Amino acid sequence: MTLEKYEIETLLAQAGNHSPEDPYGTVATPIYLSSTFRHGKLSDVDHFDYEKQYAYSRMANPTRKVLEQTLALLEEGTKGFALSSGMAAIELVFSLFKSGDEVISTNDLYGGTFRYFDHLSEHYNLNFTQWDGKNNNELVKKITAKTVALWIETPSNPTMKKTDIAEISALVHEINPDIKVIVDNTFYTPIYQKPLALGADIVVHSATKYLSGHNDLLGGAVICKGTKIAESLTFNFNTTGTVLDPFDSWLLLRSLKTLPLRMRQHTENAQAIVKFLQNSSAVSKVLYPGEGGMISFYLKDKSKLALFFDNLKIISFAESLGGIESLVTLPAKQTHHDMPIEQREKLGITDNLLRLSTGLENSKDLIDELKNALK
Ligand SMILES: *Cc1c(COP(=O)(O)O)cnc(C)c1O
Repeated sequence: MTLEKYEIETLLAQAGNHSPEDPYGTVATPIYLSSTFRHGKLSDVDHFDYEKQYAYSRMANPTRKVLEQTLALLEEGTKGFALSSGMAAIELVFSLFKSGDEVISTNDLYGGTFRYFDHLSEHYNLNFTQWDGKNNNELVKKITAKTVALWIETPSNPTMKKTDIAEISALVHEINPDIKVIVDNTFYTPIYQKPLALGADIVVHSATKYLSGHNDLLGGAVICKGTKIAESLTFNFNTTGTVLDPFDSWLLLRSLKTLPLRMRQHTENAQAIVKFLQNSSAVSKVLYPGEGGMISFYLKDKSKLALFFDNLKIISFAESLGGIESLVTLPAKQTHHDMPIEQREKLGITDNLLRLSTGLENSKDLIDELKNALK
């Protein structure tokens, strides 16, 4: 059964049901814990169809395949890949490029992405230039004959700046259709933003965050448009082997089924909290992109920071985001600690900036908790 024509809620609820992988009519996808698969006879190996048959779980595993097909449908792409972490997903995308290539990226990114870009420029001679995500003339000036990709995170982490994917993809592709527009869609998810439909070439997720949504697994996803990129990524994925294991593939697929429901509630809770924070005398500024569960805000009095954390009971002081349990982080000391301090200050990632991942607790309880912690 093809789920393509259905709405997102339907295709996720039905993902894995009617799977051609399963001979017993299971409604929930089974977990195939087999590293290898038996061949029938010698001639099977000669005419092996990797899209339909299985040989070894690094290449393909039936549980992972159902997840990967669901990811592709979800982001409206040609092919999806499920990886062992978000960083593994980013690494797979960069396996498309080579020494001497130039990549333009927005300047407010997940800290680990920055660290990886630094590593690539230091050890693999990839050249990175940064762009503010807003000024189109500046972007055009940065494009050279060696530019192979534009890397966008929107809304950005942690300062929630938005970049217009449709406008930027059209602009970049008009200059050179071979430049890959790549979007890290971890914050908004396909519920609020579908980069491939807007003109991007590749989407990346830390599936550790909203896609899995329960703070219980590490995972990554890459979804691409076009068979040429899909073929290169398939080859590199199988060659490097950063695959998601069958159990976590199953867990992620199971979690995806409630993604639309969860995202709606994350947004509802976050919007209520934003209203409260905007009226709080202890907060000098609130950054919220309009949808989703991520909120950043500045404490007016930095000396109250330790007290704020001490007074939290249900909101955990912990890295990560996008789960059922609310988490708060201090980006300058945690996720963005590896970014040079000058750049941090310039972007507004100061010591009094807090980032809240609004969970699915009752918003009244979350507001009471924040009210008490900000006293
Ligand atoms: C967490 C995160 C990553 C890295 O993903 P991991 O699953 O932690 O490896 C990449 N991009 C963004 C936006 C993230 O929040």
